[in-house]
Amino acid sequence: MKNLFGMGAGEITAELLQWNLPGYRGKQIAEWMYQKGAMSFAEMTNLPEKLRGALSKEYEILRADCRDSQFSADGKTAKFLLGFSDGTAVETVLMRQSYGNSICVSTQAGCNMGCVFCASTLHGMARNLLAGEILAQAIHIQEMLRREAAGQKVDTMVIMGSGEPLMNYENVVRFLRLCHADDVMGMGYRNMTISTSGIVPNIYRLMEEGIPVSLSISLHAPDDALRSRLMPINRKYPLADVIKAGTAYGEKTGRRVTYEYILIDHVNDGEEQAEELVALLRGKLASVNLIPINPVVERNLNRPSKQRVEWFEKYLFAHHIPVTLRREMGADIQAACGQLRNKNMT
Ligand code: SF4
Repeated sequence: MKNLFGMGAGEITAELLQWNLPGYRGKQIAEWMYQKGAMSFAEMTNLPEKLRGALSKEYEILRADCRDSQFSADGKTAKFLLGFSDGTAVETVLMRQSYGNSICVSTQAGCNMGCVFCASTLHGMARNLLAGEILAQAIHIQEMLRREAAGQKVDTMVIMGSGEPLMNYENVVRFLRLCHADDVMGMGYRNMTISTSGIVPNIYRLMEEGIPVSLSISLHAPDDALRSRLMPINRKYPLADVIKAGTAYGEKTGRRVTYEYILIDHVNDGEEQAEELVALLRGKLASVNLIPINPVVERNLNRPSKQRVEWFEKYLFAHHIPVTLRREMGADIQAACGQLRNKNMT
């Protein structure tokens, strides 16, 4: 049986071409799967009964099933372990922000980038997710929100869960286009943010796609020696090349690039690093998002004191680098990516 979930209306129409169906059938099937929560063809009541029967014999609708979940005490953050038909499972997070519902989706099961502060990489990478599997995460949460209240939906999305999205390039770009399609989620590209550890060639490739998604680059250190220690990918794509690619992306798309900077106590939060960071980003269409680390006890990576965090933020601000400090959400449910999945693997 072939899976239709993950195909857009046009692709469904093309897939069913030999059935000589009117063009609008593809759109109807897409709307049922992505907007009306249909789990089977039998539910698609505006399709002729004979067609529903024929579809059920040759095609299936493979969604994600929820294997585990955690909810923060304040009810604002929820984390789901969503599984696919081969047993693979990934984490997806919902954050109810003041500006709307934001989700964080995974693009690979695990990750092999090896960032020292990240739980997703501890068991390496199992496999890339298909576009339909990334979409299934977003649709799972969209349907949950709809059940809660009519009109409620996913408003913004970050592609920042487990995995390096630009190492699963084709599936991720296909997923972004699907989310944007009217008969799927109808989400504006500006409401989508792709987060990368800095896969330079694919940043250039992405900026030529004509899909102006926001770009977020994990920096975490302002010099090559420290960055290579924290993020091994820096040995392949060093800092200067990453910043150059980020700058080109900003200029081409007109979108401000965000540099993520996890603050680690007495590792990258000193005056020297603050100065270097300012020098690196001065005059660029860029902002810095500071994230006090979720401590990784095994690696002796600790969160800086509130005073050190505030000092770092003020330093950047005083030197005209737009800066935000990520508000901590869901710390009580171990919101750092990979931890719920790891718990279910052991
Ligand atoms: S931070 Fe992102 S790129 Fe780095 S290991 Fe974790 S999931 Fe992979």
